[in-house]
Amino acid sequence: MADYTQRYDDNADGSFYVDAECIACDACKGIARAHFKLTDDFSHAIVYAQPRTQDEKRLCIDALEACPVDAIGSQNDK
Ligand code: SF4
Repeated sequence: MADYTQRYDDNADGSFYVDAECIACDACKGIARAHFKLTDDFSHAIVYAQPRTQDEKRLCIDALEACPVDAIGSQNDK
């Protein structure tokens, strides 16, 4: 389970975030590229745009569930 206290500071403000467990596998971007991307140095992913609609939120949840190391969290799911 992702840990909010370990979230990267470069995530966009909002519910979804990527934490320090990220292994930069790029899976989240493949699922929700309008919301997730790797940083310029490819060290980890971030949420660069929070979802606004239910469809966008569903995509972000799909990415959260697909992350192989549980590095994606959502504060709304607490
Ligand atoms: S799917 Fe998880 S491990 Fe892979 S880049 Fe995204 S946040 Fe990082």
